[in-house]
Order: sequence, then structure tokens, then C-alpha cells
Amino acid sequence: MANSVDVPVAIVGAGPVGLAAALELDRFGVPYQIYEEDEGLSTKPKAGTILPRSLEIFGLEGALDGILREGLRFDEVHFIDRPSDKVLTRMLMSPMADETRYPFIVNLPQSDLERSLMDALVNNGRTVQFQHKLEAMVQDQDGCRLQFSTPRGRVDVRARYIFACDGGKSTVRHFCNIPMEGVTHPERFLVADFEVDLDRRVGRQLTYLSYIFDPEEWVIFVRQPSFWRFLIPVPEGAPEPTREDVVTKVRRVVKNESLPIRFLDMGIYHVHHRTAARWQDGRVFLLGDAAHLITPVGGLGMNTGIQDANNLAWKVSWVLQHGAHEDLLATYDRERAPIARFNARNQAERNRDVMRMKSPLKRIARNVLLGWMDRSEGLQWRAAHARSLLGTSYKPAGPPPGLLDGLSAVRRFTRPPITAGDRVPDGKIWGPDGRAHWLHDLVKPGFVALLFVDPRSRPSIDPDPDGLMTYIVHRFDAPTETGLRSRSLMDPGGSLAKKLGVPSDHFVLVRPDGHVAAIAPFVKSSDVAEAYKRFTGVSEAIPEAHII
Ligand SMILES: Cc1cc2nc3c(=O)[nH]c(=O)nc-3n(C[C@H](O)[C@H](O)[C@H](O)COP(=O)(O)OP(=O)(O)OC[C@H]3O[C@@H](n4cnc5c(N)ncnc54)[C@H](O)[C@@H]3O)c2cc1C
Repeated sequence: MANSVDVPVAIVGAGPVGLAAALELDRFGVPYQIYEEDEGLSTKPKAGTILPRSLEIFGLEGALDGILREGLRFDEVHFIDRPSDKVLTRMLMSPMADETRYPFIVNLPQSDLERSLMDALVNNGRTVQFQHKLEAMVQDQDGCRLQFSTPRGRVDVRARYIFACDGGKSTVRHFCNIPMEGVTHPERFLVADFEVDLDRRVGRQLTYLSYIFDPEEWVIFVRQPSFWRFLIPVPEGAPEPTREDVVTKVRRVVKNESLPIRFLDMGIYHVHHRTAARWQDGRVFLLGDAAHLITPVGGLGMNTGIQDANNLAWKVSWVLQHGAHEDLLATYDRERAPIARFNARNQAERNRDVMRMKSPLKRIARNVLLGWMDRSEGLQWRAAHARSLLGTSYKPAGPPPGLLDGLSAVRRFTRPPITAGDRVPDGKIWGPDGRAHWLHDLVKPGFVALLFVDPRSRPSIDPDPDGLMTYIVHRFDAPTETGLRSRSLMDPGGSLAKKLGVPSDHFVLVRPDGHVAAIAPFVKSSDVAEAYKRFTGVSEAIPEAHII
């Protein structure tokens, strides 16, 4: 007889996205089970670049210590023209120092990252159900029934919601009949790992992530803690390079024909550029590679998937635990699918096009533009904001603006004010206990409203509904007799208000994933609670667009 299990959420797949989704559910205390067909975590290094936004998310999930201890941090990416051997531009992460606690990229093989995520899960008293292969799935009005095969026989699971984190060949997606839209390129990628001294034994020092442009054969070098990774294209119909070919290519690119190299591993990958036609099917949600396949050129596939988990988990928690309307769940597809398409097309694909540009005229224009970017404070900020994924914004109007949109790119740079959908920048704020706190830590348990009013005016605020915490942010603490002292956040010099660009007598409602739900004037005592209820649908259906 089959074993039977009943859970609110079943996660299928324990890759990086399934593990991150589990940690996100732990953040909100949502019970779940995570099922993985393999005997243990993957040992393939695959993804190696963890971007600042993912670091922020792992930080809130309590999974960052091992990642920072074992990974290689760096704050500069190089774009090099191979024919002229010139650095065309540097992309610096330092302009993000006022935005995040983590203004750097971390290189760490995916297998080591997964181990750190697993350690955090174990720390939370959780475990993965390994050797559980999903074989069948049906949905009804109240939930889904899943059937897993295991070495000990069949296991039946009933779950209210399914998180499909089962990778590019997703079985769940197949059961839901959801097609993948997009293309698979005829060109493939070769990824080879070496032990080699590229820090001292080559003419120029390579940064830990270097893109080398070449119309004939572009190259990417990625430095991992104990090896170097080398990516090159394999043109359609070309024979697969041998180990010797690859070693020769590396030596040629770094211009050292006798460079000692110890070959570790290599693989050839197809380059997909596809997203699922739908990300939700009833009670089933697609996350990570199950929802999007992005070329590895930009190091975005896994990083995009981590944000999927961050976007979905709190919504499920609010429906299951805080009485939010189920319509809130439909915003997952609406918010995340355009971002994945943007990351695939405007970041990863554009990167690939720029690296292999053939037309000499276009290459001249590209090089001039990149040289300009190197010198422009505004463009550097925009590039870092977009590339770090700190610029991810769930605007009703669609994905973030292009690099060159807006004159701030050329004028002396000031940070644009936040608007609904943006990720709120992190920063220090002094709490009622007198100590400095990070703004993002305040949203760890739920929604936060930041009320930019002068507490000396004795503002009247309705009691917070379940799931919301309201704070007053100002240069002056609330006097004790106002009863607001315990909600006072001290903002010396009004620097947080300036950074966010929020006018006084307004409030900012921040979601548990750190994105802005609403910015609105604070006129009457019920304004904040009403905005929260309207956004989550706790008392009524969620409106089509965000409140601004
Ligand atoms: C060479 C290379 C380099 C890359 N570099 C980067 C990078 O630098 N940065 C980046 O962001 N991305 C990168 N990527 C992409 C990244 O590896 C993927 O986006 C990432 O692995 C997706 O994670 P996932 O959890 O969605 O899926 P997966 O990692 O594929 O995990 C899916 C899991 O589901 C399990 N599963 C599948 N079917 C079932 C079933 N029926 N029942 C139970 N379990 C099942 C699988 O065993 C697996 O463990 C790279 C990819 C490659 C190939």
C-alpha cells in the first residue's frame, strides 16, 4: 500500500531554486515538503556567479554565511576587445554601496551554493525527501495529488499548492501541458574548468569575470575559488573541441603559449532562450529553469530563479496564513514572466550579440558607447543597478527602462526616486532600541509601512492589521506621551527619505520581498491599513494595477 502525506505546499526539485523556495517558506513558517528524484544534491558546478540581489535574498533566508565564507567576492567586471586587447569598459559594483549591504558579486560553484542552502535548511530543522521521483499529478478544486516513486515504494502526496522547481525538462510543466516559447540557438557553448595561474602568469590581470569580445570567437573567463572557468561558443556543425584544442585556445587567448594548465572538466551545452507560456496552472506554479531557460552568458538563469522563489513564497503565505485573496497569487506570473523575458533578451542575449558583433561600423559605435559608459557616473550606476538585479521592478507598465533612457545618464547623477514595484534600497536606520538596523531586516517577517511624517504633529494611526507593521521615520523621535515611541525609526539628516525620494507626509508600503507595494499621501489614520488590505486583498479583490 502507498504511503500518504498531506502538506500545504509540495516543492518538486531540490536544485538551487527549490532549496531557496523552501528557505523562503521557512521565513514565513509555511509547512511544506521538498521532493528530489536524485540520491543527493547535484555535484555539477553549473552556475558560478551569484549577483547582489540573490545575496540579499540568501541573507534574509539565513543562508549567507557559508556562501560568503567560501565564495570569491569581487566588484569589477571587464569587457575586453580581443582584436585590440583593450579594456572597453569596466562595470563596477561599487555604485551600489549605498543600495545594498552586498555591493559585490560572489563566484561559487552551484554545487557549493546548494550545500550552503541545504545547511541552512537543516539549521531550520528541515530535510529533503531524496529519491522521490514525481511520476503523476492531478489537480482538483482544493488541491493537487502527486505520486512519487521511491526505493521503498509509492508515496502519494496531497498538497494545496505545488512549486515546480524541477528544472528545464520539468515533469510538472509537462503534466500541465504548458509549452516553452522561444528559441534554441544552433550555436552551443563549451564550458571548461582548469587549474591555472591567470592571476600572475598572463600579460594582463583578468578580473574574476571577464567578457572578451571577438567577432570570430568570444570568450568568457570566470574565476572560481579554486579553478578558472572558460566559456567559448561552438559554432553550428563544428566538431566538438578536444581537451588539447581547449588548452591551446586558452593559451592563445591569454597570449602565453607555455602556460601550465591542469584540465579538470568540460561540457558542451545547448543555448536556450525560452520562457513558459504560463507560469501558473491552477494551484501549480513554475519556478526557475522550469519557467525560463536563459543563456548562461549573463549568469542570470539561477539568479532569476532565486527571485521567483522570493516573489512567490510570501504570496502563498499571505493566502494560507493571513487571509489574503487568492488573486494575489496571479500576480506571480504577471510580475515574474516579464522580468525573466527581459533578463533573457535585454541582458543575456544582448550580451551575447555585443560580444560577437561582426560589422566593423557597429563595433566602432559599440566601443565608443562602452568608453562613454566607463566615464559616466549615471551610466555606471544604471548598468550596475540592472546587472546586479537590484534594479528588478514589478511595474504595472512592464520591465525596467533601458540603460540610456532618461537624461540622468549624462547629467550629474542623482538616484531616481523609488516608485511602486521597485525594490526598496537597503540602508541603515536607527530603531526604537537606539541601535542601527538594516531596512531590509524589518521586512523579514512581513509587510512594513514607512510613514514619513513628523511625529511631533501627533499623527493618529489605526492599529496594524495582522501581517503589517507601521513605523514612523523621521529626524525626531516621537515624544513618549504620543504612544508612538516604540514605532519610531530615527533617520538622521532625513537621509533615508532623501535616498528613497519620498515627500514628507507620505507613506511607503513595502512587501515582504522588499518591493514597494504602494506610495501614497498619508491623510487619515486608516490610510496605511486600507492600502495594505487593498494590495493583499485581505478584505477585497486586489486591483489590476498597483496603487501609486
Ligand atoms: C554551464 C552553465 C553555467 C551556468 N552559469 C550560471 C551562472 O553563473 N549564474 C546563473 O544564474 N545561472 C547559471 N546557469 C544556469 C543555472 O545552472 C540554472 O538556471 C539553475 O540550475 C536552475 O536551477 P533550478 O533549481 O531551477 O533547476 P535545476 O538546477 O535543474 O534543479 C532541478 C532539480 O529537480 C530535480 N527533478 C527533476 N525532475 C524531477 C522529478 N520528476 N521528480 C523529482 N525531482 C525532479 C532534479 O534532479 C534537480 O535536482 C548556468 C548553467 C550552465 C549549464
